[in-house]
Amino acid sequence: VPTRELAVRVSLLEGGIVLVIADDRSAETRADEIKRDFVANVSHELKTPVGAIQVLSEAVEQAADDPEAIRRFAGRMTRETERLGELVQQIIELSRLQSVDPLIQADVVEVDDIVGAAVARCRELASGRAITLTLAGAQGLRVVGDEDQLTSAVVNLVQNAINYSDPGARVAMSTRAVEDGGDEFVEISVADNGIGIRADDLERIFERFYRVDYDRSRQSGGTGLGLSIVKHVAGAHGGTVNVWSKVGQGSTFTLRLPAYLETEEPEVTALTVP
Ligand code: ADP
Repeated sequence: VPTRELAVRVSLLEGGIVLVIADDRSAETRADEIKRDFVANVSHELKTPVGAIQVLSEAVEQAADDPEAIRRFAGRMTRETERLGELVQQIIELSRLQSVDPLIQADVVEVDDIVGAAVARCRELASGRAITLTLAGAQGLRVVGDEDQLTSAVVNLVQNAINYSDPGARVAMSTRAVEDGGDEFVEISVADNGIGIRADDLERIFERFYRVDYDRSRQSGGTGLGLSIVKHVAGAHGGTVNVWSKVGQGSTFTLRLPAYLETEEPEVTALTVP
């Protein structure tokens, strides 16, 4: 294997020889590999809309005397440009979250504000697909963190719930306080009765650019980065994201964050970025 360093250890044991060939790549090499894969994926993903925009602009040039065709091509160019913009924005968001200190803006945040903002941002998408968004659960819960990051994580979950449900369905958001092993947490859940996810795919959906159905994701404007962003936001806040899903029945994603209790000082203090 020319590109890998392998450690070979030979042991003489009673009755024979044991040859152990171990993959001895350092953690640094693996981190480099992950970075390389990410760059390769990013270039591939960027090439798709850029290529489409190029082809469409050539088509516009050639359709000079056909206004109807020009309008059609221009409409598609707008959609591809929006897609490119969304992709670039999510790539930037993800790289920020993967930096050494992703939580540069932390404060006590009202969970009601997070879910309220998420509902407001998803209302148009929901009504466009005739989906009813409901919100229930405990009020007055608080966490410590970056309100924008947390809102964007919940928005990603709600957008997915809408996009992977049939028109007319219901998406239920709920919040609750839970105690686990003596620690207090806040859970924000987003439940849908949509298409559901197979067990094999469940293990992979939080990977960058992983999509179960590329065409469906692309049609709904998905980038394959949403859940990866959610996972990083959860991690940066000392929390987790879990999923329950059954094909044909739906999915429930639960974001669990350490609760901020009235009596304690925020553990993370806001830093000023120069
Ligand atoms: P995308 O931009 O494609 O939605 P995500 O990272 O948000 O990317 O999600 C990865 C994949 O996980 C999606 O492409 C989809 O196949 C699957 N997925 C995510 N949320 C749901 C859901 N609520 N129901 C069914 N499938 C989902």
